[in-house]
Amino acid sequence: MGADWIMDRDRDADLRFDFARDLLCAADANGYFTSLNGGWERLLGWTVEELMARPLLDFVHPADRDRTLEETAKVAGRGEPVVHFENRCRARGGEWRWLRWSARSDGQAWFAVVIDITERKDTEARLRALLTDDHLLAYTQPILDQRRRSVAQEELLVRLRGSRGGDEVIAPADFLPDVERCGLIGVVDRWMVAQGVALAARGRRAEVNLSARSIGDQGLAAELEETIARSGASAENLIFEITETAAIEHLDEARDFADRLTRLGCRFALDDFGTGFGSLTYLRRLPVGYLKIDTSFVTGLASSREDRAMVRGIVAIARELGVLTVAEGIEDAATLGLLRDYGVDYVQGYLIGPPVPLT
Ligand code: C2E
Ligand code: MG
Ligand code: MG
Repeated sequence: MGADWIMDRDRDADLRFDFARDLLCAADANGYFTSLNGGWERLLGWTVEELMARPLLDFVHPADRDRTLEETAKVAGRGEPVVHFENRCRARGGEWRWLRWSARSDGQAWFAVVIDITERKDTEARLRALLTDDHLLAYTQPILDQRRRSVAQEELLVRLRGSRGGDEVIAPADFLPDVERCGLIGVVDRWMVAQGVALAARGRRAEVNLSARSIGDQGLAAELEETIARSGASAENLIFEITETAAIEHLDEARDFADRLTRLGCRFALDDFGTGFGSLTYLRRLPVGYLKIDTSFVTGLASSREDRAMVRGIVAIARELGVLTVAEGIEDAATLGLLRDYGVDYVQGYLIGPPVPLT
């Protein structure tokens, strides 16, 4: 039996089954365990005999029982090879552990692999409390049209106000990975989109970063259409950034999302461009207005012949496709000079202006 069948998504790497740590069980049609591995005793503190003596529902949190019943009924039903669900189970000491079940039936008995996700649930609850107006902050960084020498648009970048009060501001690298892992990135993206729409309604042109999860979210696309219409913002003032990697990995979803919002007048930028290089044929399938050349090619531009070749290549491809280029991460005048020579359209970086709180 491969471990893949217990996974909903590849990105849930911490949900990969581990024989030494995780739980296995079989149960009968009456809802009693018939077989359990040693992990159950270690995690919950009950002996295997104690666990098998009562219906397994007895161990489930009262608030989770109805849902557990519904899900286990699906396991027995046909056409659902593997059923995933979560519930809290009582440990011998009285505390509750969050468990994630992946169960399937052979027609009579059912079998499950079960993973303790208590820690992840705690992180999720802690993060959820932070992802509110009280803690979320939007920063803005100018993007310069290098021919006109004027700010053409600005990128909105999320920050988090620390929970310890004071002036502590947490950078995306220190909280977005957990936010993604807990499936809460949509909360951040929606909040930032609202900031972008408000800015656009004031006549400023805003770029908003969207995660892979958000571009697959049809609900968000519909909400956006409505919010833009309601705000009176000009859709041309809204640019959405999707990373090249997310676009390649979710090409159909990215195209549907981008098509839908491009029809309104919004535009799309491929972020961190150059890092996902494989084939470029996907570019023809996406309505992309901008390629944002990844910082990793810009930082060493003055000293690396390969990076200079890469940037010139990207600019040439973009021209052929009628797409504008943006170089990010510019920190010194020498780099800016080279980028101007290569004909990069827009420039962004600490040299031009660092991200500052949006007021
Ligand atoms: P990104 O979208 O590629 O953003 C560019 C990053 O480069 C930002 O980091 C920016 O502060 C930083 N930067 C700007 N100029 C310079 C420079 O001259 N030198 C260097 N070394 N760095 C520069 P930041 O703000 O820490 O954001 C990191 C990443 O987090 C972003 O990369 C983006 O992928 C993600 N992110 C930020 N805000 C959001 C958001 O609202 N939603 C989503 N889904 N992702 C976000
Ligand atoms: Mg970006
Ligand atoms: Mg980038």
